[in-house]
Amino acid sequence: TDTGSQKDRVVAEEEWLRKWETGNIWFHKERGHPLLQKYLDVLLNGRSGLRIFFPLCGKAVEMKWLADMGHSVVGVEVSEKALKEFFAEHSLPFCEEPVPEISGAKKLQTTSGNIALYCCSIYDLSSSIVGKFDGVWDRGALVAVNPRDRQRYVSLMITLMEKNSSYLLVTVSYDPNKHKGPPFYVPESEIKSLFG
Ligand code: SAH
Repeated sequence: TDTGSQKDRVVAEEEWLRKWETGNIWFHKERGHPLLQKYLDVLLNGRSGLRIFFPLCGKAVEMKWLADMGHSVVGVEVSEKALKEFFAEHSLPFCEEPVPEISGAKKLQTTSGNIALYCCSIYDLSSSIVGKFDGVWDRGALVAVNPRDRQRYVSLMITLMEKNSSYLLVTVSYDPNKHKGPPFYVPESEIKSLFG
């Protein structure tokens, strides 16, 4: 299928912030994603105490699931409102601190530190700031990235992965001429060429 109709579409950061401000968050799944439940074993692969990364995390409830299983969760999200709603909705006390390496960024984390959410653009992160991860839950992330930034996003994700990490990716399939996205249409062939 031709994805050409979406390749120049750009959703600016301000547009995402506005969605959060106005509560236009149709992408949020209050009860979490059934595919994470289904493929949890693939993500964990029998391992415990993992570091799991949630790119473009919103207020995904799956972060709470994994933290409750004893894993350490790191997320990144441009909307501070989303992150504050996450902590409030799960009654998690948190503290805030600046991120010295990234001007204007904040790190919001639970008092025990098992959930750390960066409020900044994902493109500001690097492994020297957040370390590397044993697992990634990518839902509403690659498909929300502007098509022109996909390669940059994937190259960054690869640098954030440990050698034996697993990466669960949820994508959507539809006729890109009928919807402008996001979520953008990212066909399997493109995923293969992006991740190599
Ligand atoms: N993964 C979440 C949210 C998906 S919607 C879920 O499953 O519910 C995409 C999210 O990415 C939005 O909350 C938006 O505010 C955020 N976002 C968009 N561009 C971003 C960027 N460059 N860096 C970090 N977050 C971004």
